[in-house]
Amino acid sequence: MKPKLTSARRKNRASLSSGSPAGGGWRAGAGNDVHRMVAGRKLILAGVHIPFPKGPAGHSDGDALAHAICDALLGAAALGDIGSHFPNSSPRWRNASSILFLRRVGEMVRGAGFQIVNVDSTIGLEQPKLARFVPRIRKQIAAALGLHRDQVSVKAKTGEGLDAVGLGEAIRADAVALLQVSAPQA
Ligand SMILES: [Zn+2]
Repeated sequence: MKPKLTSARRKNRASLSSGSPAGGGWRAGAGNDVHRMVAGRKLILAGVHIPFPKGPAGHSDGDALAHAICDALLGAAALGDIGSHFPNSSPRWRNASSILFLRRVGEMVRGAGFQIVNVDSTIGLEQPKLARFVPRIRKQIAAALGLHRDQVSVKAKTGEGLDAVGLGEAIRADAVALLQVSAPQA
């Protein structure tokens, strides 16, 4: 059976076809990422190097926080995901700085007619304690995305000794982004 269009859906369809934004001009997106923690890799979060004997394995720098934020922004703009834009099969992105991914994604999102309203994120890591690095991490994300630091939130928590994060075997990051439509979409 063909679903009956509600008046709100009809309005959405009409505004989509006329090129103006549907959904009231706001878009939310979510992203997450996980990397295995291994000995001898640098621990980098949003471009900030954190001294620790282990770091995330990965094709790029394994920056789980930057990757999760990229996916939240791309998701909010319905522009795919980080893997589709920076495939880990490409030698171009081998050991690439993920701050570069953040910058590029910021440009893509703006290019698609959106302004970034805010980004919120949570890092799951058993060790080391991240509190003293958080101000620098926020500053780096804000700079990469052209935002004020108040538009960027970074929280850190441990895994309470449970699952891969809690056992120190993985780093996890979750992120949410809100976009505002700034220009009619093509
Ligand atoms: Zn990643």
